[in-house]
Amino acid sequence: MTAPAAPTAPRILFGGTFDPVHRAHISCARAVSRALGGAVVDLMPNAVPPHRPQPVASPEQRLDMLALAVAGHASLRVDPRELQRDGPSWTIDTLEALQREEPRRPRILVMGADSFAGFDNWHRWQDYARLCHLLVLPRPGADAPSARVQALFRETGADNLLASAAGNRLMLTAPVLDVSATAVREALARKGSCPAVSDPVLAYIRRHGLYNIGSGIQPGR
Ligand code: ATP
Repeated sequence: MTAPAAPTAPRILFGGTFDPVHRAHISCARAVSRALGGAVVDLMPNAVPPHRPQPVASPEQRLDMLALAVAGHASLRVDPRELQRDGPSWTIDTLEALQREEPRRPRILVMGADSFAGFDNWHRWQDYARLCHLLVLPRPGADAPSARVQALFRETGADNLLASAAGNRLMLTAPVLDVSATAVREALARKGSCPAVSDPVLAYIRRHGLYNIGSGIQPGR
């Protein structure tokens, strides 16, 4: 008699610009892993379409900083696939590619509440519910999502997230961390450091002179 197939571990994708990766990204990704029984979470830097303002750091630098930030966190990985693809990189294309590669493996897309609030601006947003589950992190100051965004995914608890192939939504309530990459970049320029960035990432930023680091420090003050 053959043993029943083990349930397939979900593919958990936490996309973002990560310009730079900061402590809230890492704390949130670890909280997601814990909420899902220690599952591996892939941090996936996005390629920004050419018509939008480009990140300050290059794709390689964003990847390097992510690699430094996840080092030592066994449940976190970096997935470079969207930076390696030619042409515009839409998350929906990534999910469709993963579905072709691993049709039986459930996918969970992770995002902050601010991204969720603007979800109906995403390219082909209505197609997501047949391709993945959603896990939303709390974020201070985030707007409430519209009724049509809320209705797209069924809200469930952690135990039921994977009860169907796709289309469920888990709203985490912690951690609530008031950190943004925009504020990090401003602090780095103004003060030359920022506690929301880990030491190895800060050393990398200094080595590469990113984010106008220290340009706002007044001599002799
Ligand atoms: P920026 O300030 O440049 O917009 P950011 O801090 O929002 O950057 P991103 O790389 O754009 O960072 O975010 C990637 C993902 O992480 C998004 O889904 C975003 O909502 C989420 N995120 C970022 N910071 C937080 C936070 N403090 N709490 C919860 N989610 C967050």
